[in-house]
Amino acid sequence: MLQQDEPKQAAEYLRQAIPMLSQHNLPPTPINYSIFYSYLSGNSQTLNDVIDSIISEKKPFTLAIMLELYEKYINGGATLEQQEKIQHSLEKAMSSASEEVQQVSSGAGEFDSTINKHAETLSYTTDPQAAALVLKQVMQDTREMVKNNQATQARMQETNAEILKMKAELEAVKASSEKDALTGLKNRGAFDKAIDNVVHSETNLSATLVLLDIDHFKRVNDNFGHLVGDRVIRYVSALLTQIVGSEHHIARYGGEEFAVILTGLDIDNAKQLTEKIRIAMSNSKLQRKESGEAIGEVTISAGIATVKATDSVELLIDRADKALYQAKEAGRNKVVIAA
Ligand code: GH3
Ligand code: MG
Ligand code: MG
Repeated sequence: MLQQDEPKQAAEYLRQAIPMLSQHNLPPTPINYSIFYSYLSGNSQTLNDVIDSIISEKKPFTLAIMLELYEKYINGGATLEQQEKIQHSLEKAMSSASEEVQQVSSGAGEFDSTINKHAETLSYTTDPQAAALVLKQVMQDTREMVKNNQATQARMQETNAEILKMKAELEAVKASSEKDALTGLKNRGAFDKAIDNVVHSETNLSATLVLLDIDHFKRVNDNFGHLVGDRVIRYVSALLTQIVGSEHHIARYGGEEFAVILTGLDIDNAKQLTEKIRIAMSNSKLQRKESGEAIGEVTISAGIATVKATDSVELLIDRADKALYQAKEAGRNKVVIAA
């Protein structure tokens, strides 16, 4: 498990991770980055042992190895929570770096004006030659000081930019860990979190859960093979994205099941939208890409449940699931609203 590292420490791990990546000929992708972040922070002894043995045996860090390490040690279990913690540490590091930049730049301004005042006083000295010399010296010091401060400021800004870049990369890691690999939709983990937020939300915005399941999907696999089955799953995902739109949460709930959280729609509109998906799906003429052979009608069934004030996640999912079951019982290719 990753601990919540101190902001400075977190930024330091990230900074050290970059040269390690280039040393092992690894591109600075979010996946590679998070593995070496974890390595440097020493959060998992097992991960460190594996990496150390790869290094000592001088084996290459292949893509397959990196993906395996990522899945095993970074992407498993509480990954979203962990990444949020890193993100939080980074945000803290970033804001303290920004503060430093501001302090340095206002400090430089103060010094500049004080020195200028001295110079002004000196210029009233009666001995013009002495005054001019001191003035010259003071101005030279001033310029030096400003120059130094500008250099410091530039360095701080560089650090700031570096931290911002790291933050963006971590956000990419987070996004990829929330994504379903086959369809690009949100995955089950992201859905669990989103539905929990919706159920426990304080706002009165109406929210509806729609569970959708492809009808007789086993037949598609049996008749045309798993790869064609995968393509059908991707087709349904694309159709969902197109009809539902990105303002709602669309997830792959399980194998050939999908979950959509609609927010701000009343039950009638939610039903209408779901019907639109059902109809579009049953009107689709799916064919095998290579041969053009017809796959036959592929339909979906859906169950809809609206979030109640007294709901728990389990109760809500259970209602939507029961409605989906009724849709199947009623002959499939149907949308049922939960009682
Ligand atoms: P129903 O109308 O009752 O939903 O029937 P069904 O055949 O769709 O339901 P069932 O649950 O019996 O079968 C679902 C099948 O989906 C079984 C499983 O092999 C397949 N499946 C699950 N995940 C994937 C996947 O990622 N790719 C492919 N190709 N098939 C998958
Ligand atoms: Mg199913
Ligand atoms: Mg099914």
